[in-house]
Amino acid sequence: MAGGEVSWDELKTKSYFGRPHLVILGAGASLAALPDGDPDGNRLPLMNDLAKALDLERPLLESGLDPTQNFEVVYSQLAADPSLAWLREMVEYRVRDYFSRLRLPQKPTIYDYLVLSLRGKDYLATFNWDPFLFRACWRHHDIAPMPQCLYLHGSTIVGYCLEDRTQGLVGSECSVCGRPFEQGPLLYPVEDKDYTAHPYIDAQWKSLAWALEHAYVVTIFGYGAPGSDAAAIQIMKEAWGGPDKRNLEEIEIINVLPEEDLIETWSPFIHSHHYQVTDDYFSSLLGAFPRRTCEAMWEQLMEANFLEYRPVPRFDTMDELRAWAAEIRSHEKQDDA
Ligand SMILES: [Zn+2]
Repeated sequence: MAGGEVSWDELKTKSYFGRPHLVILGAGASLAALPDGDPDGNRLPLMNDLAKALDLERPLLESGLDPTQNFEVVYSQLAADPSLAWLREMVEYRVRDYFSRLRLPQKPTIYDYLVLSLRGKDYLATFNWDPFLFRACWRHHDIAPMPQCLYLHGSTIVGYCLEDRTQGLVGSECSVCGRPFEQGPLLYPVEDKDYTAHPYIDAQWKSLAWALEHAYVVTIFGYGAPGSDAAAIQIMKEAWGGPDKRNLEEIEIINVLPEEDLIETWSPFIHSHHYQVTDDYFSSLLGAFPRRTCEAMWEQLMEANFLEYRPVPRFDTMDELRAWAAEIRSHEKQDDA
């Protein structure tokens, strides 16, 4: 056992890890990234105020549904009643319309930090319909290879080509066959959701299962694992495996909820494992060891080295953030994904 101390300047020069860091994003991540809404003043709705944000209170009320309930409940009731198919279509139209219009500001957001703090071997899986993850990758892919992005509930702006297993902006063309990407489905929070029903969504979840099996570090950011999403929890449990199946790894939870609630929610996953909880992205592993999270955990857990936790700078301009990320990237083999 070495037991020395590893500074960030030293750690920065090491990028030997091949196993991925998997980050799972929920609605809380988008809210943390844009707490005051987008540059046009659009708020980031959560499930408990979605009906209000989308201006659906009146049509729901008129059809005998209570719009003040959690949207998961409202949508489940809606989906169960064939006579309300027209209302369901209207809800889906509003959801697509609202979320696809959301914009990232010019200033750096947590999404910009996120995509620049992971490497091409890493995974970012989101439950969010909003366009932020895709847009952030779009504006930084010239700096470094972007992490592999999975849209577990679909996205309002991401389409797919099934034949070539590619995805991109809806309306743009597949780089392999030249055909326009097809609009993917949006998955709603209903209890009997089937993740295998649509081939595009099925592929996202198969990739998530692979990433869960192989990840060395897993971060769960702003995702509450709602009880209504039993299918999601089941898939994750199966892929994660029992404690005996796992190699040593770190689980990190970024969430503003009380720690004891989070531990209860995630106990099937963190049983006997290393874990940490924080309510702030910038004090997370990603915030302390950008592009080197797996190396950092290896040094700490396997080499018994002390790490220098130094939160990343909070940049005012995108140029500063990009220059900072490019410098860290310059220590990596350039053909590394
Ligand atoms: Zn294609």
